[in-house]
Amino acid sequence: MTERPTLMVPGPVDYHPAVLAEMSRPMVPHYGAAWVKVFIQVQGLLREVLQTDSEPFLYVGSGHLGLDAAFNSLCERGDPVIVLENGHFGERLSQVARSHGAEVLPVRAPWATPISAPAIEAALEAAPRARCVAVVHLETSTGMLNPLADVAALAKRHGKLLVVDAVSSAGLTPLTAQQLGIDVLITASQKGLGAPPGLVVVAVSEVAWDAIAGRQTSVPGWYNNLARWREVATRQRDVQPYFITMAVNNVWALKQSLEMILAEGLTARFERHTEVAAHFRQGLASLGLQVVAPPGYESPGVTAIRCPEGAKAVALRDRLLARTGIMVGTGLGPWRDSTLRVGHMGYNARIDLIEQLLEGLGAILRSAA
Ligand SMILES: *Cc1c(COP(=O)(O)O)cnc(C)c1O
Repeated sequence: MTERPTLMVPGPVDYHPAVLAEMSRPMVPHYGAAWVKVFIQVQGLLREVLQTDSEPFLYVGSGHLGLDAAFNSLCERGDPVIVLENGHFGERLSQVARSHGAEVLPVRAPWATPISAPAIEAALEAAPRARCVAVVHLETSTGMLNPLADVAALAKRHGKLLVVDAVSSAGLTPLTAQQLGIDVLITASQKGLGAPPGLVVVAVSEVAWDAIAGRQTSVPGWYNNLARWREVATRQRDVQPYFITMAVNNVWALKQSLEMILAEGLTARFERHTEVAAHFRQGLASLGLQVVAPPGYESPGVTAIRCPEGAKAVALRDRLLARTGIMVGTGLGPWRDSTLRVGHMGYNARIDLIEQLLEGLGAILRSAA
């Protein structure tokens, strides 16, 4: 076993050495012409990777901060919000929305179960005042990819804003944010975007800015207030992008990763993830192991596996780590003991690593039999 495990938890994952090298650059200030130029370049790269025309706001924090920013900025007390819940992170969206005073109208399905279009339609019809529809793209707790295009079409047909948690999907599967009409897109640096943790990305559409501007009450709070980010960014764009000290090295690292993503090509990168995930599922099936996500909904970035009868996730994870030097994740919440979750994202979306995992799992299963 290597001293440090290869990270195949569902984020953070290992990063390309060229990306990590950016973290040790000598310090530069987060203001002045040279920095402004770099920052604007990174925003341009983000637009390409997220496939959006909206300005991506990029600041210090993790994915949750972006969820907080979205609901804090969009929702006033008592605003109805439709949230799709079929996993841990869907439930988390509801918690965050509620914490900002929204009246959450959940559309629920059991974990790893698709939410039917008629159920979403019914929720939309029952709540004409709903502020937005919120959905997790890649539900990291189950490895399921929610059908974003279908949800977007329904939300748009009813004239609703669409809030998407793309924390674990951006950079490894098509987002087509512009085309789908995503109004608030939230992601973070450390998963599919292939850079160390530390930056959150929030891209807001013009329609959503109008909705924020049209609030009865001003957006509460100071740091996590999108209206404020925009106001400052517009006022002092040429001098200092924002009002905080930027984690400049994280931005350099993200820049490097985004450039590498675009050099590989979005299509090629998305295909690589799809192929790696499919290869993994085939191997798991031949070991008699069951993938949690239903057929047709499996995500290219995370695979959740049902532990065999009588085997606990933590024990399996530890044995796999000891055998292969690869660390995978266990389940979340009620699925803690019954599920293993494997992140195959970015630098670690590789067939050879998948082969090592399959071999390790096979050996463990044989020795248990
Ligand atoms: C990881 C993750 C988050 C949380 O992001 P943090 O960066 O840990 O705050 C939110 N949603 C999804 C779908 C995730 O995978």
